[in-house]
Amino acid sequence: MFSLSAVSKSYNGQKVLPAMDLTIGEGKTIVLVGPSGCGKSTLLRLLLGLVEPDTGTVHFREQEMAGNAVLNLRHQIGYVIQDGGLFPHLSARQNVTLLASYLGWSQDRVNARVLELRELTHLPADALDRYPVQLSGGQQQRVALMRALMLDPAVLLLDEPLGALDPLIRAELQRDLREIFRSLGKTVVLVTHDIGEAAYLADEVVLLKQGVVIQRGTIGDLLHRPADPFVTEFISAQRNPLDEVTA
Ligand code: ADP
Ligand code: MG
Repeated sequence: MFSLSAVSKSYNGQKVLPAMDLTIGEGKTIVLVGPSGCGKSTLLRLLLGLVEPDTGTVHFREQEMAGNAVLNLRHQIGYVIQDGGLFPHLSARQNVTLLASYLGWSQDRVNARVLELRELTHLPADALDRYPVQLSGGQQQRVALMRALMLDPAVLLLDEPLGALDPLIRAELQRDLREIFRSLGKTVVLVTHDIGEAAYLADEVVLLKQGVVIQRGTIGDLLHRPADPFVTEFISAQRNPLDEVTA
């Protein structure tokens, strides 16, 4: 589905990704984890063609993500960011339908798709005609997910989509996301800094440190067969303090 070959990226002379080789197959949920600043968001933006590599290539379905091809390819990719990134001056419905309307979908087709997605994402019907500020954080993310799925993309890229939500809402959305990923069977690349969330959602985890893949595998591989001391360090740094209390 995606293939990165010797991709490097620097900002202001600072190497964010030294030389990334990565392939992402079809139909799996891949979760990118790693410390803040290790290049997770940059990697997603490279997949989406929002950022161009300094060297190396990004391919999506055998086509290079570069130049004129980018806009077209991007329609096959849904993207959700942490705060939803909804347009504040548009209602939830307008946010969801903007691109489909622009592409000339009929009103009937748009309405049918919105209904389907509202059911899939468990968004209450009356939320559709509200503006983003009138929605809870969790509802905003459900709308952002509907928008990302509107054109039925082959891939979903999600950058810390639950990062700004409080724990109860977050747990509820984690359950819904897992259900949605399973029922759709799409390729999903999700970024989180929460190893528990990664364990819950991932078929495969990719742990990054300073733009380098330290380990790629199941959560069981990372826990029981760490490729590097950093893997264990990263995982144990996130252990719930309550584990110690109840132990
Ligand atoms: P992560 O998502 O893992 O926290 P990012 O990919 O956002 O990491 O950032 C990796 C590094 O690149 C950070 O040091 C960040 O400050 C820097 N960076 C990212 N985007 C830009 C940009 N547009 N301009 C300058 N520096 C950037
Ligand atoms: Mg980030």
